[in-house]
Amino acid sequence: MTQIKIFDTTLRDGEQSPGVNLNQLEKLELAKQLERFGVDVMEAGFPASSKGDFEAVKQIAETVKNVSVAGLARAVKSDINACRDALINATNPRLHIFIATSPIHMEYKLKKTPEEVIETAVEMVEYGKQFFDHVEWSAEDASRTDLDFLTKIIEKVIDAGATVINLPDTVGYTMPREYGAMFKYIKENVPNIHKADLSCHCHDDLGMALANSVAAVENGATQVEGTINGIGERAGNASLEEFAVALKIRNDYYPYHTNLVLNEIKRTSDMVSKFTGMTVPGNKAVVGRNAFAHESGIHQDGVLKNAQTYEIITPELVGVHSNNLVLGKHSGRHAFTDKIKQLGYDLPEDKIKEAFKAFKLLTDRKKEVTDEDLFAILTDIQTDTSNVKRYKLDNFQVQYGSNDQPSATVSLSNPNNEKVKDTSTGSGSVEALYNTLDQIILEETHLTDFQLNSIGQGRDALAEVHVSLTVDGKTVSGRGSAQDVLEAAVQAYLNGVNRAIYQKKAI
Ligand SMILES: [Zn+2]
Repeated sequence: MTQIKIFDTTLRDGEQSPGVNLNQLEKLELAKQLERFGVDVMEAGFPASSKGDFEAVKQIAETVKNVSVAGLARAVKSDINACRDALINATNPRLHIFIATSPIHMEYKLKKTPEEVIETAVEMVEYGKQFFDHVEWSAEDASRTDLDFLTKIIEKVIDAGATVINLPDTVGYTMPREYGAMFKYIKENVPNIHKADLSCHCHDDLGMALANSVAAVENGATQVEGTINGIGERAGNASLEEFAVALKIRNDYYPYHTNLVLNEIKRTSDMVSKFTGMTVPGNKAVVGRNAFAHESGIHQDGVLKNAQTYEIITPELVGVHSNNLVLGKHSGRHAFTDKIKQLGYDLPEDKIKEAFKAFKLLTDRKKEVTDEDLFAILTDIQTDTSNVKRYKLDNFQVQYGSNDQPSATVSLSNPNNEKVKDTSTGSGSVEALYNTLDQIILEETHLTDFQLNSIGQGRDALAEVHVSLTVDGKTVSGRGSAQDVLEAAVQAYLNGVNRAIYQKKAI
């Protein structure tokens, strides 16, 4: 069995998804989870792009130790220097340099001749090699690149010291057989290709990302790049969890395996969807809510007689547990602390105290608190940026009647620690609340997106709201979870504004 290395780019390509912006604490928590999940390499960010990204990469590099941490750089010295500085304390750092090689990108974007592109690529790989043992080089838009040119440039960058050659389908244009053939051609025609790992990186614009990744592996790729839940620019990237489970389930057919810890899939997926606000569709392979639900009578009957009739993946394989009933009203501090340890959380004493308080409040309203509820509480507390001054909700009230105009009253304390209270109306309850908040909040705030989901099932499920906002011209996301839909909506809005304040301080 050949091991296929997994290069996760959730924190870089995934974070570039429209509307997604993670704060440093979230990136760090996600990095720790990716380490538990067992990825071989994680691309932690693009250090030259902003101070915030630089700091996040640095912090991740200093925290995770069992995974190689990569930073992305354009083929310019300043980007490479930023990666060098951000990854200085990494146990196993990797530099990832990219340059476009397709005619359209070279001519219109880079405004360079093919010869100049080769020269720059070689020069920058050599430059990077002074600081890094592992240099990955990507031919951006490889799948639309002339094969002879690709062969030539790859040979030269390997000579210059590149240890991984990545051939992305940047615009998600290629078909599986075509993409596979490119790998085969490179494998057969680049004389020094045995000195480097071949890697694929696929986008899902035509829905081919996973099939293309498999085709690349069939033809010699030993590294697969992708993201959790397939998030990423436009239609997203190949889903790593789908790739890993496909290889596992079909190991009778393919002689490949990954080192991913499959029963960490559910948790990793939940964390990504919570942090990014990109909800996983119910019918998504492997991680969708319905992936294991059998609805039709014939299927149910078959599964009851023998699960294998219709079930090729067991929920347990990917870490979905049906019996996750946990704590209730009478659970004490001790049971609670045990449980959060069991769930893999490592919180300082003051945060445990805060979490226990939130848990007790929840048990007043909800009979059974599930793993999913705890996950919501704990991640909120873990990634809370409360050490900065912020808006804090005291109380709110909504008047709603189906024939009246809704009105809302909100009182909160602002970042200057002043208590403020105001009232406004709107065409719905949420709008009335948000109009009131806008009157109180000092920053210029606009709502651009609003999503409401439930955590878990049943009448007493928690509500989770994700919002996208612009705060003083900057785009941020916010989220809130509460027993009540309106409270979750208010919390999400305030969370977004508070994050904008936090980011302003961090940069
Ligand atoms: Zn990409």
